[in-house]
Amino acid sequence: MNILVLNCGSSSVKFQFISTDLEMIQRNADRRLARGSVERISGEAIVALRTEGKEVQRSTAKLRDTRAAVEFIVHWACSEAGIPEIKSVSDVNAVGHRVVHGGEKFTQSVLITDQVLKGIEECIELAPLHNPTNIKGIMAARDVFGAGLPQVAVFDTAFHQTLPETAFLYALPYQLYRRYRIRRYGFHGTSHRYVAYRYRQIRNIQRNETNVITLHLGNGCSIAAIRAGDSIDTSMGLTPLEGLVMGTRSGDIDPAIVDFIGAKEGLSPQEVETLLNKQSGLLGISGLTNDMRDLLDEERENNDRRAHLAIEVFCYRARKYIGAFLAAAAGAQAIIFTGGIGENSPEIRGRICSGMEWAGMELEDERNRQYFDGREGIISKDGSRLQVYVIPTDEELLIARDTVRCVTGTTQRY
Ligand code: ADP
Repeated sequence: MNILVLNCGSSSVKFQFISTDLEMIQRNADRRLARGSVERISGEAIVALRTEGKEVQRSTAKLRDTRAAVEFIVHWACSEAGIPEIKSVSDVNAVGHRVVHGGEKFTQSVLITDQVLKGIEECIELAPLHNPTNIKGIMAARDVFGAGLPQVAVFDTAFHQTLPETAFLYALPYQLYRRYRIRRYGFHGTSHRYVAYRYRQIRNIQRNETNVITLHLGNGCSIAAIRAGDSIDTSMGLTPLEGLVMGTRSGDIDPAIVDFIGAKEGLSPQEVETLLNKQSGLLGISGLTNDMRDLLDEERENNDRRAHLAIEVFCYRARKYIGAFLAAAAGAQAIIFTGGIGENSPEIRGRICSGMEWAGMELEDERNRQYFDGREGIISKDGSRLQVYVIPTDEELLIARDTVRCVTGTTQRY
């Protein structure tokens, strides 16, 4: 089956065309036919397109909305891309969408029906910035391909729906949970689920034997404790703001700070929330950038104190959470690093793991230095009681596979 995977944001659409089916999944033989992104939709959009085995083509195009972007992508795929498997719209067999918030309604990926759309709409109040743009993507694909083409929703929150009440409940008046479903949902679920799955493939173990702590460190960062294959705790909460220090998000803070900043700086609660989401984290502490690469250079080349501090606070928070999650999960077999920083920065992995020998975690420096640019493997010493892995994430692949499973009616608990 040829699956179009869509990740529709407020002003961007990321996509991949993946050829896969149940048998290809079994053999790990899925094929990525093409991929790309359309950014700054609404005016002159910036387009990057790439067919399997070819160079990236960059250009601009006048695309006024998500629908125009999806139309453009499909038209490109059927013509200039020169993909032998996709010659016309009818060669696309299904569309898989990343949907940010599934609330408590969606515990796994689902075929999109009118009722499912209504459910995604009902979750808008939990993710007012994301779910509406995801819905736009679904409607756009419906327009372009026709209502008959199967579409599947894969939720960022679904994998964490196995969290026990003790982990997901905030210590607020209980009626607030009952009335408004205020609780920890967690995000990056597709990524945590994918790397846990790869881990058990590498180790040749079963799902219910998989006890790991996964760290997704990208622009957004989160950590999950996975016990017997299920997520039992995670650092993000009602929204993606809670937990680790991120590129521009603060992660955990004392909630009283919100009011304090508002009063001192004359900001509304919404403005403070924007400050916590967009001007904090690595960017906030360093005053320079949210890009970890640039911070590492700055620290090295210019001895910048705040760049150093931003990196140290980032690593310290991650280490503290590893300790907490080891306690939550009653130990683990391995710690897994993924995401742009986790996959590519031996320096950050080294700093996070330093001083964790008490937990049986011993990094092998030489190995650690060898893993970046999509390489997958173990970076702890032979005999380390707690092993450490780098496993590049592949959310699009998991979305394509879930799409196949939903369309064919097979189980997703793999
Ligand atoms: P997103 O969370 O937006 O999906 P990614 O997972 O792609 O983002 O991660 C992006 C981040 O990864 C960037 O902010 C960048 O700082 C970081 N990154 C990428 N390569 C490196 C590297 N070699 N060293 C340190 N950080 C890196």
